[in-house]
Amino acid sequence: MMNSFPKALQIDNNTSWQQLLSHTINDPEQLIKLLELPHDYLQGAQTGDAEFSLKVPTPYLNKIKKGDINDPLLRQILPIEAEAQQIPGYVTDPLAEMSANHHEGLIHKYKGRVLIILTGACAINCRYCFRRHFPYQENKLGPKQWQQVLKYLNDDESISEVIFSGGDPLATSDNRLAQMITDLEKIPHLTRLRIHTRLPIVLPQRITPEFTSILENSRFDTVMVLHANHPNEIDNETGRITSQLKSANVTVLNQSVLLKGVNDCVETLKTLSEKLFHAGILPYYLFTLDPVQGAAHFNVDDKQAIQLFGELQTLLPGYLLPKLAREIPERPSKTLLHP
Ligand SMILES: *Cc1c(COP(=O)(O)O)cnc(C)c1O
Ligand code: SF4
Repeated sequence: MMNSFPKALQIDNNTSWQQLLSHTINDPEQLIKLLELPHDYLQGAQTGDAEFSLKVPTPYLNKIKKGDINDPLLRQILPIEAEAQQIPGYVTDPLAEMSANHHEGLIHKYKGRVLIILTGACAINCRYCFRRHFPYQENKLGPKQWQQVLKYLNDDESISEVIFSGGDPLATSDNRLAQMITDLEKIPHLTRLRIHTRLPIVLPQRITPEFTSILENSRFDTVMVLHANHPNEIDNETGRITSQLKSANVTVLNQSVLLKGVNDCVETLKTLSEKLFHAGILPYYLFTLDPVQGAAHFNVDDKQAIQLFGELQTLLPGYLLPKLAREIPERPSKTLLHP
């Protein structure tokens, strides 16, 4: 049979992160072929893809076991039929971010810290993503909007921390990041910069010496919050980039989402924390699923979540235990689910 698809991008030491970012796998048929999955999954994948497009970068694809439809990493990226179902309580803007959206590109919900949506782009489309319906088009952070954001930050001395979010903020260029950081550094009351990113996990090539030196040269105390959900997402490469970040004085944390069929198992969560620590990363949050339309099949109910967490607590030292939390709109902080 003729294969009409391009092969997945072959990676060597010269493959740039920009190449990897622009050559993601976006076609369900290609994904199924590359991963040697049963052809029966194609139709469902196409249905899900029409809701929220398939997108997976090659380095992440390479961590998925071929021929295993139950692979926990595959489940995070393979579109399925169930995503098209309307389930009561699962909505397009589960965190009511639209109402906290004072300015384009800026979300100020909590005291002292402000979230900035740098870009709608991501290297991967996680099926459970709470921003799968977010109107990024209306939140374009162009030069004009950026000046407004700077003014907002400048005028509010209670803000000490800026959080780069997205999409994935590291999907933008080093030049843009460096310029934004330089602009922010001129605001005296800002002291911390936080970057929420999944790229070091799904496209580790993004963490270049050039990028690291931007953070190293900043006057800000810098925190990077990665996003890994399963121990298979962490490998030697993760440890290597974390040590680069640490030598640039960056604190490296991880947040996960509790996902049915991915990590709703105490052994998996335990191994995740241990592997994170081995790679130099501390667990920060374990979030319950935000009720976003199309992701109901990932939900773990609260009772089970609390039970899992209770068991996890007996197996791990306190410093390896993430906080089990969720975001409830209108609350002044994340809400912890355990005492
Ligand atoms: C989650 C979130 C933060 C960060 O909360 P922390 O508890 O400090 O990690 C800040 N702003 C917004 C809008 C958020 O959703
Ligand atoms: S990386 Fe984060 S923002 Fe991007 S699709 Fe995944 S969960 Fe959503």
